[in-house]
Amino acid sequence: MTPVCLVLNAGSSSLKFQVFALDGAGDPRRVFRGLFEGLGGAPHLLIWDGAGAAEADATFDEGFGHEEALLHVAAWLREHGSGLALVAAGHRVVHGGMAYAAPTRVDNAVLGALERLVPLAPLHQPHNLEPIRIIRRRFPDLPQVACFDTAFHRDQPELAQLFALPRAMTEAGVRRYGFHGLSYAYIASVLADTDPALAAGRVVVAHLGNGASLCALRAGRSVATTMGFSALDGLPMGTRCGSLDAGVVFYMLREMRLDADEAERILYTRSGLLGISGLSNDMRELRMRAAADPDARRAIDLFVYRIGRELGSLVAALSGIDALIFTGGIGENDAATRAEVLRGAAWAGFTLDEAANASGGPRVTTGASPAAWVVPTDEELMIARGTRAALSEAQC
Ligand code: ADP
Repeated sequence: MTPVCLVLNAGSSSLKFQVFALDGAGDPRRVFRGLFEGLGGAPHLLIWDGAGAAEADATFDEGFGHEEALLHVAAWLREHGSGLALVAAGHRVVHGGMAYAAPTRVDNAVLGALERLVPLAPLHQPHNLEPIRIIRRRFPDLPQVACFDTAFHRDQPELAQLFALPRAMTEAGVRRYGFHGLSYAYIASVLADTDPALAAGRVVVAHLGNGASLCALRAGRSVATTMGFSALDGLPMGTRCGSLDAGVVFYMLREMRLDADEAERILYTRSGLLGISGLSNDMRELRMRAAADPDARRAIDLFVYRIGRELGSLVAALSGIDALIFTGGIGENDAATRAEVLRGAAWAGFTLDEAANASGGPRVTTGASPAAWVVPTDEELMIARGTRAALSEAQC
């Protein structure tokens, strides 16, 4: 039997899953990937094999939730994964706080500690923990490993993690944690394949998806990032505002008389590209409309402008830049955003290679320029790697 781990990334109404074979000494090998959308309503399931061929396409009854989805995946794997033996589940968990700087085998104490972090990521952490609880209940013997989006940033210099707040607040956990760490850790792990010199160099990674942030890497380690205490900070995103003067929040509460939940909803779900354009959070749609619609154009322009401003800040933190890497749904696929960002970064010596950029790179700058690369991220592979590492550590 081939040992496999189930990698899970759970959202409020979605469950993304991938199955990785852990046989052999090489990287975990993707066997299946799948996605439930619309959980709680009448969800839709798609499953593909490791080569991308469709394996399942189904719709379920109203009220089918995360628990039913997980049980369905387990049953589907029993039926379709002949020769595969499920040995672990690996979970994307957004927040590991200060304590968790590496993938961690989940027991009662760990689960309790992760539940206490819910107030730090109220819109994500509860959904990430839900499948852990379900598996503990339904498959109590299956080892589970939590892999954290914050972990990669935990060894940043102290100053990069501090807010200028009273020390007691810092000690109570109000500090810059940073997110998208699984993506940055993956990119750091393939820097040497992209260009051997980069593994020791100064690199800014632009993870541009629905959520978006930048991270400064020196010799493959995070030294600064644009997200801070919450996943709201830094760049404007699909529906999140990005950096905001804290005074705006007081104004929303006091003068606009919004309650905290409503203010939070606006900043997380009605701002960013959607808020500025009034049209969509989806870059593809905004690009299609931008020529005719000034609101779509303005949303894109602000996104690119803010990337440029934050890039300058990270270049300062690194005292220079050897390469910029684009990843995430927009970074990997939207040549126009890459072109606009690189034109704005001409001050740092970047010169766009138009043809290479239009065809997706991987290198999208000319020979004389600092390099800019397109590197597809693979957060699920990082979770599979982390799960295997945590399991073998536990066996040592
Ligand atoms: P998430 O943060 O939810 O994982 P993704 O990394 O999948 O998000 O990125 C989603 C974003 O990528 C959306 O704004 C989408 O429009 C954009 N995107 C995906 N493909 C393309 C494309 N071909 N051209 C432009 N934008 C794209």
